[in-house]
Amino acid sequence: MKNNDRPLILIVDDTPTNIQILAEALRTEYRVKVATSGKTALELADKPESRPDLILLDVMMPEMDGYEVCRRLKENPATHDIPVIFVTAKSDVTDEEQGLRLGAMDYIVKPFHLAIVKARVENHVNLKIKTDLLESLALIDGLTGIPNRRRFDETLESAWKRAQRESTPLALIMTDIDYFKPYNDNYGHGAGDHCLKTVAKALHNSLARPNDMVARYGGEEFVAVLPDTDAEGARQLAERWCAAIAALKLPHRFSAVADHVTVSAGYAALDPVHGQSPKEFLEMADKMLYRAKEQGRNRVCG
Ligand code: GH3
Ligand code: MG
Ligand code: MG
Repeated sequence: MKNNDRPLILIVDDTPTNIQILAEALRTEYRVKVATSGKTALELADKPESRPDLILLDVMMPEMDGYEVCRRLKENPATHDIPVIFVTAKSDVTDEEQGLRLGAMDYIVKPFHLAIVKARVENHVNLKIKTDLLESLALIDGLTGIPNRRRFDETLESAWKRAQRESTPLALIMTDIDYFKPYNDNYGHGAGDHCLKTVAKALHNSLARPNDMVARYGGEEFVAVLPDTDAEGARQLAERWCAAIAALKLPHRFSAVADHVTVSAGYAALDPVHGQSPKEFLEMADKMLYRAKEQGRNRVCG
């Protein structure tokens, strides 16, 4: 769910009057989308821009019934976590059991009391908001607020697949703060943390395209994944990073290369081909970073 938006509820029912009653009751607090077939519901749920936070799903529908819709939602990693509530006239215990076993959160039997539906929807939406929050926190670095290594690994994996599919280039930059151990040892851990936050922000703000991302890879090491970018583009950003960090003029009396904090960077770019892995790609960038360190730090290699 996007930050400032109200939660989005998708109502799926082949009978328009049923939809109207529910939609009217929920519209005061939620954004509401409707679908009169399972097929349309699956299409809406699959797209990030129309992905609901909760689905109210009828069971008896022509072509594809609600159970099948639920099964397919649960099979798809993109829609797997959307809570589903069945709203149905099928009141048998076995029907209810089947619905819940398919992974539905709840089962409401028609005719229903609107107040009960609203209360149940509210409970499940609140739970969804908390789960989303925890999930996003698990992908963010606690100190700097930028994506963490786990999120980077996921992003690289999907960027890699996309580059292969679309035959577009892909680039990586690995960067590491120079002489950060003496910085920490002399100025203290608090100052070290502050330096990391400042550097992370500057790197993040130097990204030019919406699909570029920089993550904290570990200690004082940052990594960028740059879709649709060739070696020359990666070199330019890496140079811009070095210049941006130097321009911060964070005093560092214990660095052997400058009187302020600097970084070294290594980059790699390629047209992904079969037989190579994201891991090998990352190793190429890491090797270039190592070379930049060897050649004297505060520089870019690729
Ligand atoms: P080089 O120029 O070769 O990169 O040397 P370096 O001293 O920067 O690198 P080294 O890898 O030896 O030291 C990294 C230091 O980063 C060790 C530790 O003191 C510091 N560090 C790692 N994570 C954190 C953190 O979360 N907070 C703080 N304050 N310091 C950290
Ligand atoms: Mg370092
Ligand atoms: Mg290091």
